[in-house]
Amino acid sequence: MTPNKSLIQHLARPYFITFLLLALVFSFTMPTAIAKTEGVFTGKNYNVIRVKIKGDLARTLKPYQLKARLYNQIISSAKARNGGKLPTAANQYFVAVVKNSQLWASEFGPVGSVRRIHSANIKNQRAFFTWSGKALTSVQTMDRWPIRFSKISSNFNPRRRHPITKKIRPHRGIDLVAPHGTPIRAPASGRVTHRAGLGGYGRTVKINHGKGYVTLYAHLKGYAKSAKKGSYVKKGQIIGYVGKSGRTTGTHLHYEIQVNGVARNPRTVKLLNSRFKLSGTSLVSFENDRVKQRTALKSARAPLGIR
Ligand SMILES: [Zn+2]
Repeated sequence: MTPNKSLIQHLARPYFITFLLLALVFSFTMPTAIAKTEGVFTGKNYNVIRVKIKGDLARTLKPYQLKARLYNQIISSAKARNGGKLPTAANQYFVAVVKNSQLWASEFGPVGSVRRIHSANIKNQRAFFTWSGKALTSVQTMDRWPIRFSKISSNFNPRRRHPITKKIRPHRGIDLVAPHGTPIRAPASGRVTHRAGLGGYGRTVKINHGKGYVTLYAHLKGYAKSAKKGSYVKKGQIIGYVGKSGRTTGTHLHYEIQVNGVARNPRTVKLLNSRFKLSGTSLVSFENDRVKQRTALKSARAPLGIR
């Protein structure tokens, strides 16, 4: 017998075929066993997401095709909790507890310096907090500008002297040049406190945003129907249109920001950015929830071998 022939005979033996089949089955079962530790799991009271971070958290969660709202809640809160950066492989793992399709609590490593996130509904908004109750999300934010403009024709200058009289005639706002009729959008939510002519300012709108912030829009062509005096406007809502009413040399928006009654430079003023504060009933439910969340997170991370 030649060695070649003996090998062929060897391969034809039933035990070898069984071995091949077993190897094949085994190679398919192994990755499934790993996938059972990581993934999205449906539970009785809540769902659990449990992953080892590879690359970054966004990339790690991609294959699970989470609903957009939940995915955004997870990513934005984790980023805020991680100093503005996505958790990466250095953070080792991430677990989340999901209730009613919304993020309820989450945590990520590294093991030994775990960061947890608490979440709750406050004033009809989903809010996220550190484990000690510091807000990670803003309730109200403000855009720098209420329109897209081509240039600034006159800057904020509280000590501007009149070119002829030499008297101080402060320019309490900034003049933004844009085409006639350009829609003006509320840079932050607030209440319309003025919507009428105002001397040389022409058609003028004022919005009180709370926290001491008031914005003013002058020389308007007209007002937006929905932004009536006394009405509440949302951030981004159209409140009026750029024009040249009042004393003005040309079409532009005169834009003012007052903080606690003082006109400030719209280019540099610290923009409104108010955060949730836990107090009263929201503080009580925060403390109650935190106990349950701690237990839920502990069992969520257990299969990863992290205590
Ligand atoms: Zn002006």
